[in-house]
This record gives sequence, structure tokens and C-alpha cells, in this order.
Amino acid sequence: MELPFAEPYKIKMIEPIRRSSRQERERWIQDARYNLFNLRSDQVYIDLLTDSGTSAMSAAQWGAIMLGDESYAGASSYFKLKEAISEITGFPFFLPTHQGRAAENVLFSALVKEGDRVPGNAHFDTTKGHIEFRKAIAVDCTIDEAWDIGLNHPFKGNVDLAKLKKVLDERPAGKIPMVIITVTCNTAGGQPVSMENLKAVHALASSKGIPVIIDGARFAENAYFIKTREKGYEHKTIREIALEMFSYAEGMTMSSKKDALVNIGGFIGFRSEEMFRKATTFNIMFEGFITYGGMAGRDMNALAQGLFEGTEFDYLESRIRQVEYLGNRLKSMNIPVQYPIGGHAVFIDAIKLLPHVPRKEYVAQTLAVELFIEGGIRGAEIGTLMADRDPVTREDRFPNLELLRLAIPRRVYTQNHMDYVAAAFENLYARRNTIKRGYRIAWEAPIMRHFTLSLEKLQP
Ligand SMILES: *Cc1c(COP(=O)(O)O)cnc(C)c1O
Repeated sequence: MELPFAEPYKIKMIEPIRRSSRQERERWIQDARYNLFNLRSDQVYIDLLTDSGTSAMSAAQWGAIMLGDESYAGASSYFKLKEAISEITGFPFFLPTHQGRAAENVLFSALVKEGDRVPGNAHFDTTKGHIEFRKAIAVDCTIDEAWDIGLNHPFKGNVDLAKLKKVLDERPAGKIPMVIITVTCNTAGGQPVSMENLKAVHALASSKGIPVIIDGARFAENAYFIKTREKGYEHKTIREIALEMFSYAEGMTMSSKKDALVNIGGFIGFRSEEMFRKATTFNIMFEGFITYGGMAGRDMNALAQGLFEGTEFDYLESRIRQVEYLGNRLKSMNIPVQYPIGGHAVFIDAIKLLPHVPRKEYVAQTLAVELFIEGGIRGAEIGTLMADRDPVTREDRFPNLELLRLAIPRRVYTQNHMDYVAAAFENLYARRNTIKRGYRIAWEAPIMRHFTLSLEKLQP
């Protein structure tokens, strides 16, 4: 018998979590004004709000933290990180930032101007926020298959080359500062981009002299999918695949809080010294001097170690197969999940699951609140609340899908926790037809509203 995969690590330190009663949870979520971001973490039993910054670090990473060099300029931790980034991504120049959106802020300050178009494959929300904040427009060129939730396509994060070509043909290259490819595509459900597609996008953009920037938050998970799904890559290592992926880009932004297995941090990678120099001024203004840029030396050390651990095949296999395990459990109970299961999260189609809740009453948020009440599980709405209002008309933007995302932190939960989540869903599924009304917004911020808004429950 072929032996099954199992986690390539054992547990050295534990952190207690507490179960609660339904009565407690009903009170807590009301006090939180039905916004799961307002809950205290000790009110949550299994926290699947995000996989960002929630990873468990290894003994080697904690050890590296003790060796951090906190010198303002020229710290050894900076050089250690520089070497790790250049070995894993191939980018010879880099700037540290305190997290991914800071990398976007710095890079876009240097490159994006009012009236620009920035095409890509379903930009992440902070990416889009930073583009729109500069009065430029993010144009989504993802393949249509991405929005057919049950369709089995191995690379739903791919760019539709015809859509991209249309955007590039419509405007002078000077009005398109970059093409951004997000790997894996978070907004499309943690779905990967194929190597073939990365290569084709790069060829098309390069023919117009437009740089490709990879949003690499989950580049290692993307490399795992290329290895396991794309012909010709089955015998390559994750690191060989990652290097080839980045070879089709002029730069990258990185939220190290995802695949690099640290709790905070980010960076920008550059192929050209000129682009690096342009961004350097903004890094010094917004983040810090170029050899620490918003990161402590100890955190740069942990990040350098995390980049190597996060690109080990055995780790990636156990991580992605755990996500798949939960997704398949839900699928076997007829819960409408996005298929194939994405790399970092399971996405549930809230409109299919709660057919009675009107679209304008925030269906995915309604499902997220119900799951919390059912089992103390915190997921995230990826729907109309997150899609925000149209910057011009100020009307709600209804995205293609209303999704509840269950993001699985890396190296944190066990298979028993996944079984608990599946059991809570079974109970919720049984009473789905009794859920008929959703919410209305009582207060919201002018941009990125989902983090801080307050909701009011609508009475049946
Ligand atoms: C998380 C994320 C970001 C932003 O990074 P932060 O570290 O949260 O600021 C950007 N792009 C993608 C694809 C992400 O997943």
C-alpha cells in the first residue's frame, strides 16, 4: 500500500483555544455589529478569517529571530534576506516593506499615474485600492472560466490573452504602467496561473514595452499546482518552477504573510536597477531606510528562513492537501464549493446555499454570520461588501460571485479541526431554508469598507 502524505513536522508548542455556547456567540456577533472583523479572537474557536500572517513559525525561524541584527543600516539580516530573495525569485534588487500593501504603495507611487489602466487577473482588494486611490483603473482580464464555480479547469487564475490584448491595444503604452499577475489568484479563489500563461502574458506585454509585475503572495502554492497539473513540470522542484515563474516578470510585490510563513513583512523585487532606484525614494519616505524598510532585523531573518521552508514540496503537499480535504468533505455534503479547491482556502457559493436571501442584503456575509453562530468558526465575505461601491456612481458593485471564504492558516490546525468545520456546515446546511433575510449597512468607510462597517440585521 502506498503510504499517505502526512505533515512533515510535529508540534512543539500549543496555544489553547476555547469552545463557546450558541447563546454566547449570538450575543458576541450582535455586539460586533455583524462584522466578523470586530470579534475578539478569544470569541472564535476556529479562525479561518485569513491565511495572512497567521502561520505557525518553525523552531528554525524562532531561532533565526534571536540572531536578528537590528542595525539601522547594513544589517546582516538584510543581506541574509537579500540572498534568500535572489536565490528563490531571481530578482537581484529588492526593498523590504512592512507588508504586501506597503510594497504596492511604494511601487505604485513610483509607477502609477492618474488616468492609467492596470490590467491583470482579478487584482487583490488592496492592489485595486492602491490603483483606484491614484485615480487609475484596474482592468480584470481573468478567463471567463474562473467565474463558473463548478467548472473543473486546472488554471482558473489564467489571464485571457484576448482581453489583455484589447486593453493593451486601446491605449498608448505610456498609459499602462504595468500588467499585474497575481499568483495564485486570491480574488478568483486561490486558483493558479499556468506557466504557459505567465510566459504568454510576458511575451504580449513585452512586445509593447510594458513591464509585468507578479503579485507573489502565494507563489509557492502556485508552483505546487504547476508541478502537479502542468505537463513538463512534474519532475522539476518547486524552487526551479518558482524561478521560471519569476523569469517572466520585471518585478514583484510580496506579502510575506502568506507563503513565506511569517507573521508580518513584505518586499518588492526588481530586475532593473532603474526601477529599484525610482521606488527607493518612496520606500524611504513611507517605510524606512532601504536596508530595513519597516521590518525589524529579526523579522527579516525569520522571513529569509520562511522563504526556504515555504518552498519545500512535502510542506506544500500537506498544506494544500489539507485545504483540499476540507473542500472535498463539504462537497460530499452537497455544499456548493468552488472547484477545483484552491490553494489556501475553500470558497462556498453563498447564493446557491442561501437561495432565499436577496442579493442586496449581502448573502455571503449572511452565511459568514450563520457559520459563526453555528460553530464559532470565522470565515470571510468575498462578495458585495468587499467589492465596495463603484468609485464614480457610488452604487454597490455586485461581483460575479458571492463567496464565503474559509482560509486555512499554514501549519496551525489539525485534520480534527477540519472535521469540526465540516460538522458545523452539516448543521447549517440542514437549516438553510429557514434563513431568509440578510443585513443592511448602518455605517461604512469611503474606501475598503468591509473591514470596519457596521450592519443591521433585517427582520423577516
Ligand atoms: C495579502 C495580499 C496582498 C496584501 O498584502 P498584506 O500583507 O495583507 O498587506 C496583496 N496581494 C495578495 C494577492 C494578497 O493575498
